[in-house]
Amino acid sequence: KMFNELQELRGNIRVYCRIRPFLPGKKEKKTTVERIDENGELIIANPSKAGKEAEVFSDIQPLIRSVLDGYNVCILAYGQTGSGKTYTMTGPNAASKDNWGVNYRALNDLFAISQNRRSSITYEIGVQMVEIYNEQSQPNGLAIPDASMHPVKSTSDVIELMDIGLKNRSVGATALNERSSRSHSCVTVHVRGLDLKTGAAFLGNLHLVDLAGSERVDRSEVTGDRLKEAQHINKSLSALGDVIFSLAQKSPHVPYRNSKLTQVLQSSLGGQAKALMFVQLNPDVNSYSETLSTLRFAERVS
Ligand code: ADP
Ligand code: MG
Repeated sequence: KMFNELQELRGNIRVYCRIRPFLPGKKEKKTTVERIDENGELIIANPSKAGKEAEVFSDIQPLIRSVLDGYNVCILAYGQTGSGKTYTMTGPNAASKDNWGVNYRALNDLFAISQNRRSSITYEIGVQMVEIYNEQSQPNGLAIPDASMHPVKSTSDVIELMDIGLKNRSVGATALNERSSRSHSCVTVHVRGLDLKTGAAFLGNLHLVDLAGSERVDRSEVTGDRLKEAQHINKSLSALGDVIFSLAQKSPHVPYRNSKLTQVLQSSLGGQAKALMFVQLNPDVNSYSETLSTLRFAERVS
């Protein structure tokens, strides 16, 4: 199978594989992934042809819009640090619309539709940002930036809010970037609809999640806080894998309680909810083993 562009795998949760292009100025070498399953070889070729942001979004747009019908939807980005999770979810620069990632596009679309739809339904949209670090919202300098739900009316409200959210964090920009790869960042969107004709009210939830880097940390090389972080990330990502896997197996018990991450996402995983995961890959040959383990995760949950 060739993955030149976004490609859908099979299964219960929709899984999209996204390979970031080679970065200019870096000496990256093409990776080749050998057998991944009985369907044969998986070759990563020419990642520079990867889909652009608008193209990526048009594929997931119907899913996002179903939130306006009262569905709960979860969109996640999984992959090692440097594989393009934040690029996919947020984009490199909110100032330019072309560069908007899934977060801004999703909200922009929800506003556009909610303001134009059948006139008998009115919508209220609220946004909340939560950071899960070390399995909890720790107060010791690592507090959730702003965990309250804010009413928003336009995409610029959201951009403003996200800016404030980032600034409210107690660490500087470099440290933030550093730490963001070791925490899960989750934007939750609540859409409350009211049909003025029938009086029927409904609520849809959208979770947009930029997961912590999935790379395995060499336990012989890290100690103290780094080791603790690695253990928590490992725990929460495998709990996420277990939840999605047991949903796929239609198992009667879904282990949501095993991590803070899966507790936060519970309403949008399982039941009538719809989930989609971006599985992000780094095309560099040095990432070969992480690429393989990311694909194994994708295979297990798809
Ligand atoms: P992660 O959040 O997984 O650690 P980033 O989103 O920060 O990774 O991406 C790592 C680098 O690759 C950044 O410099 C980013 O701008 C670049 N990048 C990622 N995806 C793309 C893409 N689709 N097109 C162009 N550059 C990308
Ligand atoms: Mg990131």
